[in-house]
Amino acid sequence: MSIAENIYRLNAELADTAARLVVVTKTHPVERLAEAYAAGARLFGENRPQEMAAKQPQLPPDVEWHLIGQLQTNKVKLLAPFVHTVQSIDSLKLLRELEKHAAAQHRIINGLLQFHIAQEATKSGLTLPEAEVILASEDFRQLRHVRLTGVMGVATFTSDEAQLRQEFRQLRGYFEQLKTTYFAADPAFCDISMGMSGDYQLAVAEGSTLVRVGSAIFGSRG
Ligand SMILES: *Cc1c(COP(=O)(O)O)cnc(C)c1O
Repeated sequence: MSIAENIYRLNAELADTAARLVVVTKTHPVERLAEAYAAGARLFGENRPQEMAAKQPQLPPDVEWHLIGQLQTNKVKLLAPFVHTVQSIDSLKLLRELEKHAAAQHRIINGLLQFHIAQEATKSGLTLPEAEVILASEDFRQLRHVRLTGVMGVATFTSDEAQLRQEFRQLRGYFEQLKTTYFAADPAFCDISMGMSGDYQLAVAEGSTLVRVGSAIFGSRG
């Protein structure tokens, strides 16, 4: 199936759910991103700051760029002029750096707290206590140009449905807990980013609001 057909099919599948599609475009040339855009895709996810910064000027300005990979503080400056959401917030240091550069650009940048939910030591992310240290801090209260809009997680690479569901439920539980404790009066804190090509249907069933899908649209990355 073509890129456009895959996007139509996914959007039709998600139409009656709470989830929106983030098209994961990493490693693919801008021509393929343009095809996805022509098929209606507007939320694009990249995992490398340099790659995203190189592609962004070549796509229309209404693309919402989501960074889904690790962000080192020395790369924030590259993205600050245009990034919509950094899905991989894992430290107060990163939030402070985003604040500084977003303020300089007179912009507000959205962020998701990335949690460790996989049974794999290699996948990064915060624990709930680590997130609470950030949210309870005075530095966090000082942020004016970074707005936390929810949570993100990457599940274990497995076909074990029970395990995947349990990990998605765990992330949803973190979201609910943080929402109640820190964001009860903040409607902007509303997103749960979970689910990829192999597991997005389970993630949607468990409450995902942002699915990040690459290979099911573009085929496998070379
Ligand atoms: C690459 C990537 C995806 C998309 O993976 P697919 O299996 O190709 O859909 C989603 N989330 C993150 C964090 C990624 O790095």
